Amino acid sequence: MRLLIILIIVLVSSCTKGQDKYKTDRNNMVRQQIERRGIRDEKTLNAMRRVERHKFVPSYLVSSAYNDRPLAIGHGQTISQPYIVAYMTEILELEKADKALEIGTGSGYQAAVLAEIADSVFTIEIIEALYESATQKLSELEYKNVYTKNADGYFGWEEHAPYDAIIVTAASEIIPPPLIDQLKDGGKMIIPVGSPFMNQMLVLVEKKNGKTTTQSLLPVRFVPFTRK
Ligand code: SAH
Repeated sequence: MRLLIILIIVLVSSCTKGQDKYKTDRNNMVRQQIERRGIRDEKTLNAMRRVERHKFVPSYLVSSAYNDRPLAIGHGQTISQPYIVAYMTEILELEKADKALEIGTGSGYQAAVLAEIADSVFTIEIIEALYESATQKLSELEYKNVYTKNADGYFGWEEHAPYDAIIVTAASEIIPPPLIDQLKDGGKMIIPVGSPFMNQMLVLVEKKNGKTTTQSLLPVRFVPFTRK
């Protein structure tokens, strides 16, 4: 009996130590990669400290989950570098009551980060296998305010429009007009614009009094926005 109790204590403490390690890794990631590069928004920083990035990457990459780079998630796709996730999140200036739309669910990581801040997140993925794995992951981790869909995100998700914020995580040659239509007046969209695998620009699109303005922010490299 005593042996069993000792065994349980050892097991539980080794599990919590494992969790602590990832928590430390996450705090270091936020400090060294994100705050140091100028991200100051507390909501974004807290979301990045909370979301367990290592649970969104394939098992063989878990030990690299908090590294300063994008990671492969299968099907030729990638989960963005943590700094880029934080940068795009901060730019959107999400409020607690906001509704956000994401195009390119991928692993579901960016959707989880948004869901820590906003009221609801609608996210669309074109590759069925990724849609399925991300949906399962988000449900396992109890992100009840994330809604997933397997479709071509070019057309947005009309049913729940308009959105306070739209984030596109695949590089498109153009800003899809349906997404501009589905952006709320006063809303913000962030989208990488440019040719596949060439240098692209993160573009901020803002709609004010029915007028749409764009602003180029940062050179980036994203996987291509594909069409069905
Ligand atoms: N946000 C993701 C990273 C995604 S990588 C994450 O946090 O993990 C870009 C994703 O966009 C890929 O999964 C790709 O399949 C998807 N994608 C590309 N074109 C798309 C389109 N037209 N509609 C929806 N998803 C698209």
